Amino acid sequence: MDQLQLLIKPVSAACNLRCRYCFYLDESKYWKNTDFGMMDLETAGCLIRRALEEAEECTFAFQGGEPMLAGLSFFRFFTEKAEEYRKPGQRVFYTLQTNGTLLTKEWVEFFKKWRFLLGVSLDGTRKLHDENRTDASGNGSFSGVFKGIRLLQEAAVPFHILCVLTNDHAERIQSIYRFFQNKGLQRQQYIPCLDPIDAKRGKMSYSLTGEKYAQALKTLFDLWYADVLGGNPVYIRQFDNYLSMLLGGQPEACTMYGRCTMQNIVEADGSVYPCDFYVQEKYCVGNVKEDSFLDLAKKAQGSSFFEKAEKRDIRCGDCRWYPLCRGGCRRDCDEMADGSFRNYYCEAYQEFFGYAIRRMEMLAARIERRQF
Ligand code: SF4
Ligand code: SF4
Repeated sequence: MDQLQLLIKPVSAACNLRCRYCFYLDESKYWKNTDFGMMDLETAGCLIRRALEEAEECTFAFQGGEPMLAGLSFFRFFTEKAEEYRKPGQRVFYTLQTNGTLLTKEWVEFFKKWRFLLGVSLDGTRKLHDENRTDASGNGSFSGVFKGIRLLQEAAVPFHILCVLTNDHAERIQSIYRFFQNKGLQRQQYIPCLDPIDAKRGKMSYSLTGEKYAQALKTLFDLWYADVLGGNPVYIRQFDNYLSMLLGGQPEACTMYGRCTMQNIVEADGSVYPCDFYVQEKYCVGNVKEDSFLDLAKKAQGSSFFEKAEKRDIRCGDCRWYPLCRGGCRRDCDEMADGSFRNYYCEAYQEFFGYAIRRMEMLAARIERRQF
């Protein structure tokens, strides 16, 4: 195969923080054990060898919990093994999503050496961040994260900010955006906070309702648009993806493809799942210690996960926004009493696209004419 992207969870969902909205704590109810432990070097070696044998180009993306808890020795082993198995000219990419609190100079040098692209979770200002992102004693993690961010900035290691949107955050989106800008954090991604998988939507203290989401998207768009036109471009993943789609490009995220795709989630014990939101025993498609990635992909296609994933909001079929929205993430779709599915954020997307489409099209046209 040409390209292979693996999302590896070296310490499963283990984390040094206890964020109030963490969906892994909810997901772990569906596991046989409370977590999958830590990946041993034999499993890591096996997955590296298979991946580099089977694909021309590989992206190893690390996620947790907090993947840095695996320790530098694990990551040194991983990158050195990948060098050993890598064929001449074969391209290997690394990404890692972290809460940022464990970053030290030594780690930062390592990430720089191996050209990791990092994602750092930061929910805006100190007050907003510390409301939800706490350690086990309930202390906010903002100071620790910011120390890490400074180290990355000083060493010029590329990273983007991942900001989770709750209703509180949505209401304060302008101050969050301005705060990021003032701190030189120009690459941003905003994601709606997830309610627990079986809970009624919008009822948690950290929920994000459709109404607030629509308002946040519109405000954020106004700010972003003014900065882009003013010659101070900020990368906001969702908006930049819409622009690229308007120009005929492919979106980067499966949530914008219009269908679920195999995400190759590799748990610490080597077991593989199609999507990080559904790491449940019933959706396990195999194990890197026994199966090739080609076989895992084939097994996934016939699995109950993809059968379920096909079922989307029936309104999408004749929706004018489908070319951009594509129905959103399957995890946001709820089953109705009559068996049909509805995207919880559908009305928010409709409102947002109606509000922003003219300006998005104008920006796309200017990019096409190379006026930026
Ligand atoms: S459920 Fe969402 S995140 Fe998972 S594969 Fe489908 S679109 Fe992607
Ligand atoms: S706006 Fe709603 S109906 Fe339209 S594509 Fe998106 S989810 Fe589907």
